[in-house]
Amino acid sequence: IHTLRLILGDQLNARHSWFREKDAGVLYVMMELKQETDYVVHHRQKVLAFFAAMRAFGNALNTSGHQVNYIKLDDDTNEQSLTQNLQQLMKKYEVTTLECQQPDEYRLDHQLKSWAGANNIHLSWFDTEHFLTGRNSLKEYFPNSENYLMETFYRRVRKQYDILMDGGRPTGGRWNYDKENQKKVPASHDVELPLIFSNDVSDIDELLRSSEIKTMGQANAAQLIWPVNRKQSKQLLEHFCQFGLPDFGRYQDTMATENNVGKAHWSLYHSRLSFSLNTKMLHPLEVVNAAIDAWSKNKDTISLAQIEGFCRQIIGWREFVRGIYWAHMPDYKNLNALNHTRPLPEFYWTANTKMACLHYAVKQSLDYAYAHHIQRLMVTGNFALLASVSPDALDDWYLGIYIDAIEWVELPNTCGMSQYADGGLIATKPYIASANYMQKMGHYCKECYYDPKKKTGEKACPFNSLYWHFIERHKERFKDNHRMSMMYQVWNKKTEEEQQALMKQAETYLDNINEL
Ligand code: FAD
Ligand code: SF4
Repeated sequence: IHTLRLILGDQLNARHSWFREKDAGVLYVMMELKQETDYVVHHRQKVLAFFAAMRAFGNALNTSGHQVNYIKLDDDTNEQSLTQNLQQLMKKYEVTTLECQQPDEYRLDHQLKSWAGANNIHLSWFDTEHFLTGRNSLKEYFPNSENYLMETFYRRVRKQYDILMDGGRPTGGRWNYDKENQKKVPASHDVELPLIFSNDVSDIDELLRSSEIKTMGQANAAQLIWPVNRKQSKQLLEHFCQFGLPDFGRYQDTMATENNVGKAHWSLYHSRLSFSLNTKMLHPLEVVNAAIDAWSKNKDTISLAQIEGFCRQIIGWREFVRGIYWAHMPDYKNLNALNHTRPLPEFYWTANTKMACLHYAVKQSLDYAYAHHIQRLMVTGNFALLASVSPDALDDWYLGIYIDAIEWVELPNTCGMSQYADGGLIATKPYIASANYMQKMGHYCKECYYDPKKKTGEKACPFNSLYWHFIERHKERFKDNHRMSMMYQVWNKKTEEEQQALMKQAETYLDNINEL
């Protein structure tokens, strides 16, 4: 063996140029580590899916003729630390150079670099060949400003990769079809069931049990629903293009319950491709091209608004938040612009709350390790922001509970987009909303103990008074924000009595937050 090459758990890119040639002197190293299972409490399905996908990838590499050293969680030689295991292997094979693909997480990047520096080890870096833009994309695209606009970024990527472009102009003449989208799903509506798999990962489940790995949430290890290899990931993509894409944009921002759309309520028309994308089993361009291909063959059923909405998420938001992460780490992790410090309410771990929206969003997260974007942003995120929950506590929760949660994408979405803890780098105004929005966009309120129309008094929806509590408590920061000025006008028009009643109601709720 003359070269060791490290493959991290989210670097399962079978089409990486590393694998084009076979060399018996190259040993690929993969490892299951307590360091990774324990840095936060993860959902059980997430750990199962990661280990299953890693094992499938290691086996596939081996079968195709590459040398693989796969260290399982309970192997005797496993030191449970990435760098200690590497140290051991480098000694064993007497190599001084280690080849790595650039980690997407600052945590691992830092760990590898400081270990190499301290031990005089030469790290040879390779691109993951996954993203469309580099780690420094924001500096490149916005050289003279920290006023990053996702829309500007997205248009650049579209032009650069010639995605939905006709010559120099956007296909259809417009860049953005958000206005056509954002519809509420009808009260009674048939949605195709999500494609779920039935992977038997009982052996890994048993391993987690015997190794005493602490996890959260439910898992049926005999039938893990998530794709764990490239073949399944491609099936999921195909299924989405056929059944999800025709209504993707239209109902992207809506929320439903089992009583109005049946068993597809937890994923609606969302693709559920984030796990396959974030582990790199699928390439973003491959996903976008498959969707564009489906659209161009089925324009009678898939409108331009749907395909534009989908591409925007992947080549726009996904790449953009990665740029934010790398431009601002490690400081980004500690930002708390609004000084929110409340502990995370207990119902985030149990779903035991009378608030139907929170109950549904948390329950399905515990059941499936998944919630769609609007549930994350406008239900669990919105409530935490209104209730002044510590972004750190919330960050750990999002980082643990979702199947797709890896820090580079989770942190900017939580700290930035959802909690405004970065002071407005991503969101030009805080994503806050009262029951009015919940009713407009979803069907939870009909099943709720609380009354969405009531702002104070018995059974008043907590979102209503907490909304005004937020407005009042952060007035110095936001009163001159032109996107918030309407809210301040409404607030200022309320009588002092009305204002006091709202504040009192909100404070009562905040004092008894675990009883809501
Ligand atoms: P779809 O709705 O089908 O969208 C298609 C794809 O677009 C997704 O798979 C994803 O790759 C991409 N995408 C869409 N929105 C975003 C976004 N805001 N940022 C980055 N990519 C996006 N996404 C993660 O992948 N990992 C996370 O840990 C994560 N944490 C989040 C935390 C909060 C508080 C919020 C508000 C959002 C978070 N997101 C995260 C973004 C988004 O909610 C998920 O990517 C999406 O819900 C995944 O489901 P899907 O594959 O069905 O997405
Ligand atoms: Fe949520 Fe309030 Fe609607 Fe209940 S009434 S579902 S708490 S927004």
